[in-house]
Amino acid sequence: MCSSCPPPSSASQSPVIKSPRTLAAAAGLRAPSVKAAPVAAARSASSPRILTTTVGSYPVPDWLAALPSEQAVIDATRVVFDLQRQAGIDLPTDGELYRFDVNHPDTNGMIEYFIRPMAGISSVVGRSITEEFTRHSPMGFRRKPAGVVTGKLGEGSLNLLADCQRAAAVAGGAFKFTVTSPYMLARTLLDHHYGSFNKLTMALGEVLAAQMPGLPATCLQVDEANIPGNPADAPLAAASMNLVLDAIDAGTERAVHFCFGNYGGQTIQKGNWEKLLTFLNALHTDHLVLELAHRPAADLDALKRIDKKIALGIGVIDIKVNHIETADEVAARIEAVEKKVGPGRVRWVHPDCGFWMLKRSIADRKMEALVRGRDKYLGR
Ligand SMILES: [Zn+2]
Repeated sequence: MCSSCPPPSSASQSPVIKSPRTLAAAAGLRAPSVKAAPVAAARSASSPRILTTTVGSYPVPDWLAALPSEQAVIDATRVVFDLQRQAGIDLPTDGELYRFDVNHPDTNGMIEYFIRPMAGISSVVGRSITEEFTRHSPMGFRRKPAGVVTGKLGEGSLNLLADCQRAAAVAGGAFKFTVTSPYMLARTLLDHHYGSFNKLTMALGEVLAAQMPGLPATCLQVDEANIPGNPADAPLAAASMNLVLDAIDAGTERAVHFCFGNYGGQTIQKGNWEKLLTFLNALHTDHLVLELAHRPAADLDALKRIDKKIALGIGVIDIKVNHIETADEVAARIEAVEKKVGPGRVRWVHPDCGFWMLKRSIADRKMEALVRGRDKYLGR
């Protein structure tokens, strides 16, 4: 996901209980080395012309939060994959449960999971840092920075391969793995080193790019929930995201997810797709994963001008409301987009964003609705 945006302020900094990830590292556990299922596993000659996928996050099961351990993360990831496959999702995600931190249960780790392990970042954030960040105010919805950049950025202990391998070992087929965009991460940091937002953003892009080779996923998705509200930064965001996308192995499907933010059902960023067309067309991606269900109908007009070399993924499940869409509603949303952009342009349908803020029962029924609606539209 996008698991989407972090809450207005980050949580307490004093760790009390070790997160599953920390426990795993402490135990020296390693996921088995596995190969990714090929893209063909998600799309074959017999598969429908429009595939279903999810965006990334899944609600953290209560039993994982109550008794976190490496084994519990693996078990929960199996459950999340199974739920999606049984619902009929063609390309499931791992649910991003490995990012869950019991000390920060009100965030889904979309930012902190990447920022905290990196070299060159201090996560000691007190009053003066918070006040400096507020004056700088790069993100209106975030009061505290995720960290302070104190030196040259490096991977530190960030190891996406280990977490991707853990997911691959229990995926049971094709799956998608997600990474937060360097631009979005840069917006959460207070910079005391680079002296240039551009340099900081590109440095983050280089750190993330170095993590891409060899990731055993069928599809890698870069998540960005901030640029829609800041279209002036689009060239920088595109350049830094392309660093990451270009580092993905040949044969691995590349996806980019965009949304307008999602926290507690709120739209965080103002903006529309129209202003971002040049940016979208500059991305080195195979397909887009766009928030559209919780958007004004006028947004559909912009989709016509997205380069034909980029396949369209459209959000047809609104994750900001608890209403479970009917198959007719989902089918009607797909039809509305294909009427605008022409038949055959839509290759993927999905929820608008990650599911992490919904109740599990709601998320599960929405996944079923997604598949039923796609099937209804295609007459399957
Ligand atoms: Zn999102």
